[in-house]
Amino acid sequence: MNDILRIAIQKSGRLSEDSLKLIKECGIRFDNGGGKLKTAATNFPAEILFLRDDDIPGYVEDGVAHLGIVGENVSEESDRDVDTVHKLGFSKCRLSIGVLREQEYHGVKDLDGKSIATTYPRLLDKYLKEHNVTAQIHEISGSVEIAPSIGLADAVCDIVSSGSTLLSNGLKEVETIFRSEAVMIASKHLSPGQQELLDQLLFRIKSVQVAKN
Ligand code: ATP
Ligand code: ZN
Repeated sequence: MNDILRIAIQKSGRLSEDSLKLIKECGIRFDNGGGKLKTAATNFPAEILFLRDDDIPGYVEDGVAHLGIVGENVSEESDRDVDTVHKLGFSKCRLSIGVLREQEYHGVKDLDGKSIATTYPRLLDKYLKEHNVTAQIHEISGSVEIAPSIGLADAVCDIVSSGSTLLSNGLKEVETIFRSEAVMIASKHLSPGQQELLDQLLFRIKSVQVAKN
């Protein structure tokens, strides 16, 4: 059996350290020096790919990677056809709507007719539809929090963990639309051998999680 599992993780960002730690705690050894984009494990039939988190769901859907570690927020927003096989318990955060602190706010209906800046247009659209709110979604690629203070939008929809970024931009958090943590996603087209390797890996991950609790 020559099956190998290609596991995509974030190259550099908030998921990177915990993703690497988890793989190591599963007893998988590899050399990740030198900023390489790909490395082979030395004691398990796996390769690690280091990518931007946004690219991971697409690579897993296409089968370029067989597994990936991403935030649920990114996986859901991508709408790619992948399986979420396990919740990993780190990088917990939420996707929230914020408005200027001095703005009166009584409930989600207050967003009717407003414009909202976000990098998560799909999740925001779903939330607004579920609440029968018609708002204009401004998709921007970064620095979402400054949009209200520069007059680009009335509100923002962005990732929050402590809320300090919202506060320092004169915003208050008014709605939480999605709660996220890191998840393991898998391709829907694994060979029987790869499925077997995934089961072994999940067994190890669950053991690591049990040992921590
Ligand atoms: P990349 O360069 O890979 O595209 P990025 O800037 O899009 O990186 P990060 O800021 O590293 O992404 O965040 C990666 C993921 O970590 C987010 O999608 C989210 O799931 C989670 N996350 C983001 N902000 C926080 C936070 N403040 N606390 C905890 N987890 C967070
Ligand atoms: Zn990203």
